[in-house]
Amino acid sequence: MLGLMQDWPLLCHRIIDHAATDHPGRPVISRSVEGPIHTTNYANVRKRALRVAQQLERAGIRPGDRVATLAWNTWRHLEAWYGIMGCGGVYHTVNPRLFAEQIVWIINHAEDRIVMTDLTFVPLLEKLADKLPKVERYIVMTDAANMPATALKNAVAYESWLAEGDGDYTWKRVDENDAAGMCYTSGTTGNPKGVVYSHRSNVLHSMMAAMPDAMNVSARSVVLPIVPMFHANCWGLALTSPMVGAAMIMPGAKLDGASVYELLDTYKVTFSAAVPTVWFGLLQHLEANNLKLPHLDKVTIGGSACPPAITQKFQDNYNVEVCHAWGMTEMSPLGTLGSLKPEYAHLKGDERLAIQAKQGAAPFGVEMKITDDKDKELPWDGKTFGRLKVRGPAVTRAYFKEDHAVLDGDGYFDTGDVATIDPHGYMQITDRSKDVIKSGGEWISSIDIENLAVGHPKVAEAAVIGVHHPKWDERPLLIVVPKKGQTITQDEMLGFMQGKIAKWWMPDDVTFVEEIPHTATGKILKTALREQFKDYVLPTAKAS
Ligand code: ADP
Repeated sequence: MLGLMQDWPLLCHRIIDHAATDHPGRPVISRSVEGPIHTTNYANVRKRALRVAQQLERAGIRPGDRVATLAWNTWRHLEAWYGIMGCGGVYHTVNPRLFAEQIVWIINHAEDRIVMTDLTFVPLLEKLADKLPKVERYIVMTDAANMPATALKNAVAYESWLAEGDGDYTWKRVDENDAAGMCYTSGTTGNPKGVVYSHRSNVLHSMMAAMPDAMNVSARSVVLPIVPMFHANCWGLALTSPMVGAAMIMPGAKLDGASVYELLDTYKVTFSAAVPTVWFGLLQHLEANNLKLPHLDKVTIGGSACPPAITQKFQDNYNVEVCHAWGMTEMSPLGTLGSLKPEYAHLKGDERLAIQAKQGAAPFGVEMKITDDKDKELPWDGKTFGRLKVRGPAVTRAYFKEDHAVLDGDGYFDTGDVATIDPHGYMQITDRSKDVIKSGGEWISSIDIENLAVGHPKVAEAAVIGVHHPKWDERPLLIVVPKKGQTITQDEMLGFMQGKIAKWWMPDDVTFVEEIPHTATGKILKTALREQFKDYVLPTAKAS
């Protein structure tokens, strides 16, 4: 027997329709790339998104065609997303921080027909354009007055292009399982992989993101999405905010502490989301200028592990609740969130911080398990760690142009992370599976050792890699960048760590360097470190 409810496909443009109908005047305020603050609202975003859709269709974009964006978070980028999806196209957010060859590779691999770019990235694209033969047109997201002279193919200023349309357009009715957006993983190993979101997965993920124990946004929220729309689908916020009718404050190109503070304060932002580096910058600015955050209620911090010092400062000094979150491009991206369940809600001080240092619990729509190398499920005891696998309606099943599914027999996706899960369902990342150090058949978590090492007051950054050892297969090597003007000895470093981790986890050697290589998204590039230290001979290896 079938249910007798209406067939109402979960399409992304329905989100902006709802925002324009039910929250028409809610502001969308942006720091424009040209400089001045720009104010609009959801009714206007929708009107202009209809023009984008109309103009794209006139340019020959058909359902399933990809349109790239290289752009900061602004109202224009928001309109572009809805316009692209609304004509059946697929927005492909390109991370401009990737290496040039990667940008060329992914635009070609995605077969983007049109590239929409902010002024910032015009010089970059001019250098790469020769290698992008399939791009038919470049739309520069500015007005005629600010349009630079450029040799980019068929280049046009977005505002002039938009003015050619009248917005008399009806959204394409596509299937809810059709592609809506694309984002490539940063490809720290091998080529980047294309993750393809559907209308349905985006809508369901946005609902998930809005829930109270997730981002908890509502029509009363003022949301500042600092996480770029080109990084992992903006953590859902470009869809969640209009879905609930929250005001949006778009930070444009300026993500430094002073600029972020200015927006938080001027627009009375209640919720924001960003990676730890951005929050470091903000906290430094607040401390240096003796500022407060009276309006901000909550921040979501993820992308890499959130250091407890950040959580502690936000909560104790500024009365802002921190929600540590974990996810990945392949998960749209939300996986777990660190809101406190009743079992932990009473905790105070360091005990509370220890739970908040975990990456959090799964919302409805994410199922998790941890397994050993033989795919046997491991217990949720908070101690045993294994490969973290996930399942859900907004989790990748296959990569673009790779026909095979990337799931195990039960339909789970291997995240490439190694984690524990405690009895209350809080997951904690202990490593990436390719970074875990395999010593004598046991696993050592490089992240735990790194977190401990960066706790030393003279250490700026630390990385741990497994180095070949004749007896144990691999043993940990600690690579340390001292803070400017500081010197540390190996004994000082090891002495500091003594007793704080299991004895057999202690690094066999410590080496000091001026710099550690990073990926385009700011993570430590362990592949490069492993290459750099591949012939390193540990003192313990010489002895055995
Ligand atoms: P990429 O790995 O391509 O930079 P993602 O942004 O999708 O792309 O990164 C996902 C990975 O980032 C996760 O698999 C995990 O290793 C790491 N990560 C994300 N959030 C956290 C977190 N809160 N703590 C630790 N690691 C995290």
